Formats: sequence, C-alpha cells, structure tokens
Amino acid sequence: MNARTLVAGLLALGAALSAAARAEGTTPAAHAAETPATTPSVVIVVFDALRPDHLGAYGYRTRPTSPTFDRLAEESVLFATARSSAPYTLASVATILTGRPPDEHTLTTFERALPAEVPTLPRLLAPAGYRSVVASRSGILRGFGIEDDFELRFVDPKLTGDARAFRRAWKEALTTLASGERPWLAYLHFFPPHAPYRPPKGFALPFELPSAAGVSGAVAFLQSLDRGEVKLDDAGREALLARYDANIRVADHELDDLLAYLRGLEVLERVWLVVTSDHGEAFGEHGRFEHNSTVYDEMVRVPLLVRPPGGLAKGIRVEEPVGLVDLAPTVLTWASQPVPTTFAGRMWPLSERARYAARTRPVTVRSASPPEWFAITDGDWKYMRPLAWARGGPEQLYDVTSDPRERNDVAASRPDLLGRMRTAADRELALQREHAATTRPLSAMPADTADALRALGYVQ
Ligand SMILES: [Zn+2]
Repeated sequence: MNARTLVAGLLALGAALSAAARAEGTTPAAHAAETPATTPSVVIVVFDALRPDHLGAYGYRTRPTSPTFDRLAEESVLFATARSSAPYTLASVATILTGRPPDEHTLTTFERALPAEVPTLPRLLAPAGYRSVVASRSGILRGFGIEDDFELRFVDPKLTGDARAFRRAWKEALTTLASGERPWLAYLHFFPPHAPYRPPKGFALPFELPSAAGVSGAVAFLQSLDRGEVKLDDAGREALLARYDANIRVADHELDDLLAYLRGLEVLERVWLVVTSDHGEAFGEHGRFEHNSTVYDEMVRVPLLVRPPGGLAKGIRVEEPVGLVDLAPTVLTWASQPVPTTFAGRMWPLSERARYAARTRPVTVRSASPPEWFAITDGDWKYMRPLAWARGGPEQLYDVTSDPRERNDVAASRPDLLGRMRTAADRELALQREHAATTRPLSAMPADTADALRALGYVQ
C-alpha cells in the first residue's frame, strides 16, 4: 500500500467516525446540512454458512482455507466477535437488510413475506440518491420480498444456483452501477461454503481430502448426522471438516474474483466493503449439524471484515462483540442518512478502543426449528431460553469469554446474574413485540423456490 491510499483510508475512517458522532443526537435537518459532497458506495458480501474459526485471519491453521480473506483482513477492520441474528438464511439476511431483529421484521418462517411497511436498505438510502443491486446464488432468497426494494435483481431460482450465471449477473450489475454518477449499494450473496461440501470439478485444492468410510459432504449425509442416525469417529469428523474447508477455499477464490473485478472497475478504493456470513455451521458441538436449529455460537458466530475506502495500512482488530443487526445503521451512517430511532442496532465501533455509541439493546439471536430458541448477549455473558418460555422453563447461561464453546452452563450457580439476564431478555422481547410489523402471509411460494427448500429438507 502506498502513502496516498493509506492517507485516503485514514481520512475515510475519520470521516465515518465523525459522521457516527454527528448521527448521535443531531436532528435530521442539522444532519442533512452536513451531508458530504461525495456519498460513498457500499458493497455487502455474504458467504453462506461461513464459520470465522475456519479462516486464517481468525487463527485457523489446520488447512490453508482463506488466503484472500486473510490478505483483505490486513487492510480492514476485523471484528473478533460478530453474531448473526438468526442461524438461518431467511431471517438473518432480512435483519442485515432491514436493521430489525427477526421478530420485528417478522420474516421468520417460509410461510410469510417481508411486510411492505418494512423498508430494506435500498429504500432507506433512496433519499441520498442511491442505486442498488441484489445478486444471490441462493434460491432461498427468492420470492419472500427481500429483493423487492432493489433496482437490479438477480436471485438464482435453484438451490445451489448456477455459479456462472451468478458471476455474470453481479459483474454486469456492478459494471452498470460503476459507470453512473450516483452512489450505489450492492448486496452479493455467494453460496459456498454452504452444503453440499463439494468443490466444482477441476478446482485446484491446495490440500488433500482424506476419505473415510461413508463420509461425504452431501446434504442428505449431513441431515442423517443431524438426526443422530449416523455417528462420526475421529477420522470421519476430519474427513467432513476437510470437505467444508474445501468449500471455504472455493468461497475464498470467489472473493478474489470479486476484489479483482472491483479493482478493474476502479471502484475498490472508493467503496465501503463489508465481508461477512449469514450464520455459522455446526459439526456436532452440541449434537447438531448444519444450521437453523440452535443459538449456540457455532451456528451464529460470523466473520466480519469492514474495509474503508482506500483500505487501511494495517488491519485493526475490534474485540467489542457486535451484531449483524448493526449493519444497516452502519451503512445509513456512512451515507449520512438518519438511523431510525427504533432500530435495535448502532453503528459498529471501527477502531480498537471504540465502544458502541449509545447502544441500549442487547444483540439477540433466534433459531428456526421448534423449539425456537432465543438468546441475548451482554459482554462476557450469553443467556438463552425457548421463545415460548414460562418461568421455571429451561434457561442456559454461559461465560462465552472463558467458555467460548458453551460447555459449562452456569445458570444454576449464578442466580443473581441469571436473574439480571432474564430481566434483560424480558425487556428486549417486550420491545421486539412492540416494534413488530404486521405479519404478511406468503400468498404463493415460487415453485422452484419450494423445490429448493424441499431439497434442503427445510419444508416438506
Ligand atoms: Zn444461509
């Protein structure tokens, strides 16, 4: 990196931080008067089901999964602890794009569509003149209203999508947007490393895939593991993890392709780039596999990199735990747009010693399959219980700093703390009910979306 890009990066970071300070407690009118002459474009990149602890930048050393991601981290802000709002695509992506927890935007089941009264980022950014594109290789995002506010749309109808059609779509869209004068927002949803864990034919992997009897990366095999019908021995577990890692290496290759394309369009140094995932992926840590079903960290922790325009001279690591519910307020702040006062999230702290500006609500998570679980986090602590809970029902409490694998439930031994977290959960759930949109039933699911969901076992 040369001195000029370093200075540009630091200036951009400083501008964003002062914009965040201005956004706190200023009126929209006063704020608009300070709108900078150049409004930055924003690229949000999501890799489906990408665990942070399988990336080199997060300390993974077993296999070389992520050279591109690791290089990008060196010029970005890396969040050590980031959590999605749900361990499944639909609710998590709706939170990313609306800034509302799942039970506020209400898109928590495949039987609903996003209510028209709930704006997504393109509508919230419209007053600042933004254009927008959504491109998704995951058919799960099709037909539920998530894409409706975007100007340019490509959502592959098939389960695993067509890699080439997706690549062509986002390249064409970015070329169109980059050639215009107006700022733009791109939401790009890549399918790998989501199951099946099977790199494309001919993909050059820099590591071996050990074989073990009966083990594959097929969705049906993962489902049989999740139902407990098949058990893994150590060799089987290693073979499965290697296949997941192979898919991460594919994702990393696609990130490299995207960065090269943004460079080629001469926009990489002018955009805010966010790289993350919609949820994690489980490998039996709490008895379950894939995602959807629990609120434990293997299913909800996500990687999160934020590269400011121009990049940073040296990567910044932020230890403060954050949520993807903060993504929308962060983007609105970059665009000098007011953040709705009802938003649960706040702009991400973008420097090592920064803390959230006036965050008053906890980061929350809710799972999909019954019993739906709900969790709140507060610093070191994570508290969870089923959403349909009555006093005396199951509760769990973990010190996720000293016990990051959530092995040691301290609910029984810390009654005072449990009571405090229970009260905080009660208060947060009451707020989510108060802010909940009116649910909108899905009139008809597109047939190809239904096929995709059936193939994943998500619907019958
Ligand atoms: Zn997903």
